[in-house]
Amino acid sequence: MKYQNTLSDNRIECSICPRKCKLSDGQSGFCFVRENNNGEIKLKTYGINTGLAIDPVEKKPLYHFYPTSNVLSFGTNGCIMGCQFCQNDNITKVRPMYDFLNKTSPEEIVNLAIKNDCQAIAFTYNDPIAFFEYAVDTAKIARKNNIKTIAVTSGYLNPEPCKEFFEYMDATNIDLKGFSEKFYKKNCLAHLQPVLDTIKYVKNNTNCWLELTTLLIEGENTSDQIIENECDWIINNLGKDVPLHFSAFFPRYKFKNHKPTTLEILQNAYNIATRKGLNYIYTGNISDIQTSTTYCKNCGKPLIIREGYSLLENNLTGDKCKFCGTKLDGIFD
Ligand code: SF4
Repeated sequence: MKYQNTLSDNRIECSICPRKCKLSDGQSGFCFVRENNNGEIKLKTYGINTGLAIDPVEKKPLYHFYPTSNVLSFGTNGCIMGCQFCQNDNITKVRPMYDFLNKTSPEEIVNLAIKNDCQAIAFTYNDPIAFFEYAVDTAKIARKNNIKTIAVTSGYLNPEPCKEFFEYMDATNIDLKGFSEKFYKKNCLAHLQPVLDTIKYVKNNTNCWLELTTLLIEGENTSDQIIENECDWIINNLGKDVPLHFSAFFPRYKFKNHKPTTLEILQNAYNIATRKGLNYIYTGNISDIQTSTTYCKNCGKPLIIREGYSLLENNLTGDKCKFCGTKLDGIFD
């Protein structure tokens, strides 16, 4: 494995993500899917998928990347983050007996996408950083076959693997889970700064289309001040045209006693981001047509009206507003 170092005590350090786990022979890292196998770090989930499904791209969520196209979604097990509110803990936290599971090669995944008329393959369900090699190998083959690639990720990885990973991704939705170090430390057992570094790198150094998602959890990351700080950081570091999705949390994993997020909380964050001047803000996980609509950043008219993942109205001519001719930011047919 490329991203590993041998330490003076013969342990192996994994350098994929900022945890830099130091592993004795036979030991697995925090993500529990990378293991020191006789001096080589082995990805135990290579070729193992925990689900394959065809989804609308809006479900990732990506609202400015080939709207209404189909994507082939898949993921494995394990995660590099320790989110106490994980919404997919049935996938990220289980530890199957990998040797006894059927395998799906990168070629087979790409062939499935082609056969099912999917415009893209989405690495999702669990964080693809936890299956870095499997995702990158699949993405390389996808690119040769004119299939796009999407990473739904926490963005928690080190600078070198970050470069390689996003070289092969055409679009990404990065979770900006909460805008404080305290939130990341307490609720994700991780740190905020490496995520911010990844987001800036993707926006400013790659051709990968970027959207952001913040899962709002009442009382944890929903104060006006925190949302304002997040919007200020986005505007100052990425500009006003990066789409930001505020999505609703449902009680799961270690946050089973927390309240589900209400539409009012989503709308409050939406209003703050609007006042700050972001051009593309959305709410998700609770259906609300007004805050799921894409508006023209110049004339303010509705361009794409959605209900859930379905398109109700399309007012684009190509990638331009049919009312005033302004280009909509994103990647379109
Ligand atoms: S990828 Fe896994 S093993 Fe490697 S540093 Fe991160 S948590 Fe540790």
